Amino acid sequence: MVQPLRKVLIANRGEIALRIMRCCRDMGIRTVAVYSTADRDLKHVRLADEAVCIGPAPSAKSYLNIPAIIAAAEITRAEAIHPGYGFLAENADFAERVESSGFRFIGPTADVIRLMGDKVSAIKAMREAEVPTVPGSDGPLGDDAALNHKLAEQIGYPIIIKASGGGGGRGMRVVHQSSELEQSIELTRSEAQVAFGNPVVYMEKFLQAPRHIEFQVLADTHGNAIHLAERDCSLQRRHQKVVEEAPAPGIDDETRANIGRRCTDACKRMGYRGAGTFEFLYENGAFYFIEMNTRVQVEHPVTEMITGVDIIKQQILIAEERELAYKQEDIEVNGHAFECRINAEDPDSFMPSPGTIMQYHPPGGLGVRIDTHIYNGYKVPPHYDSMIGKLIVKGMTRATAMSRMRGALSEAYIDGIKTNIPLHMDIFNDEGFIEGSTDIHYLERKLGLQ
Ligand code: ADP
Repeated sequence: MVQPLRKVLIANRGEIALRIMRCCRDMGIRTVAVYSTADRDLKHVRLADEAVCIGPAPSAKSYLNIPAIIAAAEITRAEAIHPGYGFLAENADFAERVESSGFRFIGPTADVIRLMGDKVSAIKAMREAEVPTVPGSDGPLGDDAALNHKLAEQIGYPIIIKASGGGGGRGMRVVHQSSELEQSIELTRSEAQVAFGNPVVYMEKFLQAPRHIEFQVLADTHGNAIHLAERDCSLQRRHQKVVEEAPAPGIDDETRANIGRRCTDACKRMGYRGAGTFEFLYENGAFYFIEMNTRVQVEHPVTEMITGVDIIKQQILIAEERELAYKQEDIEVNGHAFECRINAEDPDSFMPSPGTIMQYHPPGGLGVRIDTHIYNGYKVPPHYDSMIGKLIVKGMTRATAMSRMRGALSEAYIDGIKTNIPLHMDIFNDEGFIEGSTDIHYLERKLGLQ
């Protein structure tokens, strides 16, 4: 039975909170903003129907404060909570508390978040669904040194030891030769115990120059699942994505349909609900699953630009228990889109650059989209992630989209703080990037970090 939502609490801040608020407005849904004392002047806090302060500036006391968020939902009589990305978006305990308190969680069930949050169980679920994974140990590593050596020889060096509970690019160690194996397993295990409270580690082949390609999926509560094609997010620095694009250069329709179907089959098998992303490493024409994100991603707009599907709206419709209005054959890839993550940081040293925005002139025109919460006089607080917005463009071809991005970057003017716009300019004039299909180490090599 469809259960329309009338009021949604947005458990996040910044551009994504504004994005969710705008979508709710489109749909005629009232919104509740929650904010820390450092965020009273956030754009969506001023524009939401209601706003509740949930604690002081440090995230642990506000945006990660589960009782305060649930209390805010109770006093405002919200019906559902949208977690955005980051903060509590992939916290299974939060999802469980939201639902046991009588609210709807706009995302998958706590069980599925838990299953995908543990890498060993996620990989197992993918193998069962015939999603291609990285050749590896097929489960946790034991203490039998001879067996571990045999496994590594079979896979072939270099290999990588990874923590099952790891995240954020932490809890991984590359091993180049057998003499390093035992010590590397031990070290990763003890670090994983300290960092994630979970000593389980596993082994994978280390791919030397892969691309990062991910598939966007949507699944409803009636057993339907579709994919919205893929994004290429290979341009990264310290495992942080810097520029994303859709579709991924060089992926043909048949490959897209094949991998996409495996992802949607996996969704059906695990009872997935909502929007999600299957992340793959891609090397020599082959896909290797690395992890699933059970939330909306920062880079979702590039997919929206090429498919015309509003992903946040779909998340809300799915939470209302509606059937997906799209069938797979309705989804067409149209044109090419890029996204630049705009950070308040020094473009050379990458040091955060919080402060007051004295002047802001956004770019515009056909095919240009800006998702940002900044405005003239807005003070970027030092307490949170340095991303202050996203510049997204679409063109009918990759080349047109690229020149449109160059134009938009040169039009963008932000005074008062430093931003990484000069770095983006550099990237969009880089020959290798213009050619396409760069690997995940490309940007760090370019920056002289490797
Ligand atoms: P996290 O959850 O910490 O982000 P991932 O499993 O997504 O961990 O891996 C993060 C990054 O580490 C990948 O984007 C890739 O750069 C690198 N990586 C992980 N596994 C491998 C592998 N088997 N071979 C090469 N690089 C890898």
